[in-house]
Amino acid sequence: MGRNLDPKCKQCRRLGEKLFLKGERCNTAKCGIVKRNFPPGVHGAKGKTRQTEYGLQLQEKQRAMKEYRLMEKQFRLNFEKAKNQTGNVNENFLRLLETRLDNTIYRLGFAESRDKARQLITHGHIRINNKKVTIPSYTVKTGDIITIKESSKQSKVFSSLTDKLKKFDTPSWLNLEANILTGKVLHSPTIADLNVNFNPQMIVEYYSR
Ligand code: SF4
Repeated sequence: MGRNLDPKCKQCRRLGEKLFLKGERCNTAKCGIVKRNFPPGVHGAKGKTRQTEYGLQLQEKQRAMKEYRLMEKQFRLNFEKAKNQTGNVNENFLRLLETRLDNTIYRLGFAESRDKARQLITHGHIRINNKKVTIPSYTVKTGDIITIKESSKQSKVFSSLTDKLKKFDTPSWLNLEANILTGKVLHSPTIADLNVNFNPQMIVEYYSR
């Protein structure tokens, strides 16, 4: 599977907003957006030019793709799947993105970024309903119990996690029991449950051209 290897802070600066791709560093004064809030490149400091409607739609798509750490092909496949489901395309699309296992691990606070969540999954640390799952794109379902492998809980990666998670806010579609590092999917996320930094309608318009 391909990955976006552009430097993470440059991706945020190009869009002019924080995408929180580097975990804790994103909340410090070392954040690229705090230090240099203008697009990268020699002409970046001159500021942004006015954009067409197409340009704005493209920008929203890029923003969402970068936030969920997906490449064009995977992102588009999710859109096609959403279009073929019954109901509102925007909501279907967001639901498909949110219920990816890598995003769910990030939303539960088990990893400080989606990249790190993906690494935990592929390295075999995650269990769903007591079964090992190593596929970051796996879709979680209502009632699924997500936890960390017992032997991994003692490792350095997870040793301080329980304390950190006591102050962690999970979205309303998930329940977290921080003391046992276990999450549960309460229901499928709806638009009301989601707080996203992009406009899904503009993405639907971009793909519907
Ligand atoms: Fe983006 Fe700031 Fe995090 Fe860098 S540190 S990835 S600029 S939010």
